[in-house]
Amino acid sequence: MSRSAHPAGPRHADVLPEGHYSAPPTDLNVLDHKVWAQTVGRGEDGVVTVGGVPVTRLAEEFGTPVYIMDEADFRARARAWRTAFGADADVFYAGKAFLSRAVVRWLEEEGLNLDVCSGGELATALSAGMAPERIAFHGNNKSVAEITRAVEAGVGRIVLDSFQEIVRVAHIAQSLGKRQKVQIRITVGVEAHTHEFIATAHEDQKFGIPLAGGQAAEAVRRALHLDGLELIGIHSHIGSQIFDMSGFEVAAHRVVGLLKDIRDEHGVELPEIDLGGGLGIAYTSDDDPREPHEIAKALGEIVGRECEAARLRTPRISVEPGRAVVGPTAFTLYEVGTVKPLEGLRTYVSVDGGMSDNIRTALYDAEYSVALVSRASDAEPMLVRVVGKHCESGDIVVKDAFLPADLAPGDLIAVPATGAYCRSMASNYNHVLRPPVVAVKDGEARVIVRRETEEDLLRLDVG
Ligand SMILES: *Cc1c(COP(=O)(O)O)cnc(C)c1O
Repeated sequence: MSRSAHPAGPRHADVLPEGHYSAPPTDLNVLDHKVWAQTVGRGEDGVVTVGGVPVTRLAEEFGTPVYIMDEADFRARARAWRTAFGADADVFYAGKAFLSRAVVRWLEEEGLNLDVCSGGELATALSAGMAPERIAFHGNNKSVAEITRAVEAGVGRIVLDSFQEIVRVAHIAQSLGKRQKVQIRITVGVEAHTHEFIATAHEDQKFGIPLAGGQAAEAVRRALHLDGLELIGIHSHIGSQIFDMSGFEVAAHRVVGLLKDIRDEHGVELPEIDLGGGLGIAYTSDDDPREPHEIAKALGEIVGRECEAARLRTPRISVEPGRAVVGPTAFTLYEVGTVKPLEGLRTYVSVDGGMSDNIRTALYDAEYSVALVSRASDAEPMLVRVVGKHCESGDIVVKDAFLPADLAPGDLIAVPATGAYCRSMASNYNHVLRPPVVAVKDGEARVIVRRETEEDLLRLDVG
């Protein structure tokens, strides 16, 4: 990402202000499919369509802001992961990225499994008819009620996150007369985010049991000796929005090292390893994510090589993509309310949503793209900051981007790659109502999560 001066800069400004942005694209009407879902395109009338439906019609029918999900794109990505990993591996979709009953059914139809990490996510999966043995239950502080529900339901695995939880799950399973399949989540001393990874001596974080100091080995010792548990493998998740496979390489090396130690100490070869999720997607045209088949090939080779060196049978691999399945499938459609040029600085474009429907920019300084979608425009590019309607100056949706200089109230703009961690992290800040999710496919649009109403808000307020 480079800062570049551009002669067409913001209106009323000769010099562009500080910021992280690339040069404006030569044609703002072109939609880059790196960041837009596959069926998104601009019609001859200039209006953007998705799944054959114009966004102007979607806005009219469902209102704005609204998350528009390209169902064909979701299914294609899910299938690509499933196909890439083949029959000897499992793909668990991380439900926290975005979960609804329709999504659960798509996952089942496309052959994916599901990660949940709360009672609410588990309830959603079960209510949509997900086979419990295809569900993995995660989390660093699952309640006794949640664990009980998961064991009773018969989830395929519980990922144990602490010494206390090893005992807790064993006790609950035993009291229900069951033997629960479990994995132990370890921290391998690798932290990966976007383009870099860092290997540290110890892991300073709340998740997992450190490999360092023999703690993970001790956790395995305890789990193997508890009647309520069937230890099936080791789990590692190293970060998010990762582009660089070398973090996974170090993680796989260390996980396989633990499997070897377990074999040497206990004479047991654990049959599974889970390498977690965190695979990156393109939020802007500058990002270059890997394809599922490249990732599957790289992980398979790394694990195969490590196991051969350790003389272990290659375990069954599982991965847990969330963002990389759902992120690129959706965009958020907003209506422009005000356009406020600040001389010498930038132009603020206010939309009818904001940090309540996309907290990622405020929370992680995330980068997004944006486009004018209700019409084409040949106006020059203007540097904008897209902001929401909330009472916070940090209420930013897109920090730095270019939109046509003739942008006006009433225009529809869309922010792509908002399928993951936007609706699932949405809030009611300022008592703003959470937007609906509309799935579009083959010329048809249907609501899969409806818009929140004032009645919904007031129903909780019983004082
Ligand atoms: C968050 C999470 C994932 C999914 O991460 P993405 O970045 O959405 O792929 C997978 N596994 C675990 C354990 C997680 O916590």
